[in-house]
Amino acid sequence: MSDNLKNGNNDSEYEDVCYICRRPESKAGKMIHIPKNICVCSDCMQKTFDSMDKVGGPFGGMPYMDMFNMGQPQQEVPKRQKLKKKTEKSEEKKEHPQGIFDIKHLPAPHVIKGTLDEYVVGQDFAKKVMSVAVYNHYKRVLTDSEKEDGIEIEKSNMLMIGPTGSGKTYLVKTLAKILQVPLAITDATSLTEAGYIGDDVESVLSKLLAAADNDVEKAEHGIIFIDEIDKIAKKRNTNSRDVSGESVQQGMLKLLEGSDVEVPVGASSKNAMVPMTTVNTRNILFVCGGAFPELEKIIKKRLTKQSSIGFMSQLGDEFDKDENILQKASTEDLREFGMIPEFLGRLPVVFALQAMTEEMLAKVLVQPKNAIIKQYQKLLALDEVDLRFDEEAVSAIAKKAVEKKTGARALRAIIEDFMLDIMYEIPKDDLIGRVTITKDYIEKSGAPLIEMRGSGEAKLLTQRD
Ligand code: ADP
Repeated sequence: MSDNLKNGNNDSEYEDVCYICRRPESKAGKMIHIPKNICVCSDCMQKTFDSMDKVGGPFGGMPYMDMFNMGQPQQEVPKRQKLKKKTEKSEEKKEHPQGIFDIKHLPAPHVIKGTLDEYVVGQDFAKKVMSVAVYNHYKRVLTDSEKEDGIEIEKSNMLMIGPTGSGKTYLVKTLAKILQVPLAITDATSLTEAGYIGDDVESVLSKLLAAADNDVEKAEHGIIFIDEIDKIAKKRNTNSRDVSGESVQQGMLKLLEGSDVEVPVGASSKNAMVPMTTVNTRNILFVCGGAFPELEKIIKKRLTKQSSIGFMSQLGDEFDKDENILQKASTEDLREFGMIPEFLGRLPVVFALQAMTEEMLAKVLVQPKNAIIKQYQKLLALDEVDLRFDEEAVSAIAKKAVEKKTGARALRAIIEDFMLDIMYEIPKDDLIGRVTITKDYIEKSGAPLIEMRGSGEAKLLTQRD
């Protein structure tokens, strides 16, 4: 009978966990299976026997034995706390590579960008930079060429600067999907609360491990996105000593660079009952993102200072008109903002995203593969109703979104607001064949155009209040 059947666990992909020390098979070695689905590692078994010896006599005292609770029904370790077994790098695996974990299947930068284009509107420069950085990163991971010639390719961790709703998270999510690698998204502010020691930094890795289906090998090739990184900047212009943000940055250094980290499996914090494993962060790609408010001012100040010296003297307000001044951010500016040099040093790829313009927002509504309008159209098509949006209506929605200053995030809220009535009213009448959303309807001065099935008759839906 196989070990797994003995264990009552017929999923042989997962490791056994020691009942006493909670270490998985990969750390504690082969497990000894005893009745009631209990596995014990040889260390703990040895300790048990040692303690028996001390007390003397068979089963006398038995502090370790007590821990087995022999009379009680045993609880199995939940599956989410079990690790996937490491696979041997066999010939078979070479023939059937998983996703990009084979250099031959790694998509070239232009292919990555092409796929990003299908989902993300604009941000051409960011998409290009990311595609190249990701390509280089995985090339480095897959070849591990340093061993042969001593040249180590640097890790391509990234720092994205961009206003809210410009697509930072969306870009990383899409990238992870294209590459079929696990992704964990976290917020730098959550790291501030508990400080930089212990659990919080590791909780990011626990998330990644969970996203990788508890497969350590897969997690070690994953992507971690840390949002709101600007919130852990050192405070500027204060007399009081502020170290909170700075120390979080320092705490993250070893993670960004690559180190072995003890990670709880299936939980976000360490405790005695959770199995632990080691994850190496050397090949994990870290992407940090933030809006960096007021960074513009710092850049402007630097540029004005630079240009006021020498022949290229420019007027100070020249840069005020520049919408995308963030693209000109340098490490020096970020340092002035409050990021520590060591931290910036570990994020070699720095780039900025454009603020979403009215034109871009209009495209977000209709162009991407899963554009919001396409989603509504699909929903209504199931009721055999053809939903259309006038071009002017799309522009009107984009205009409203610009006013909210939250980038593309505002779009869904605006659309949901007026689509509610449509989604409620239309299914009432089976005869309705087409609905056209007009500019007037968006601006609340008119109604959508309703056309009845077959008759070619068009009417205006009663105006909403
Ligand atoms: P942030 O820059 O604040 O991280 P997000 O990436 O979370 O913004 O964007 C919020 C939502 O807006 C996304 O889920 C996506 O649907 C949409 N979105 C944002 N930017 C774009 C873009 N450039 N192209 C297409 N959709 C976008």
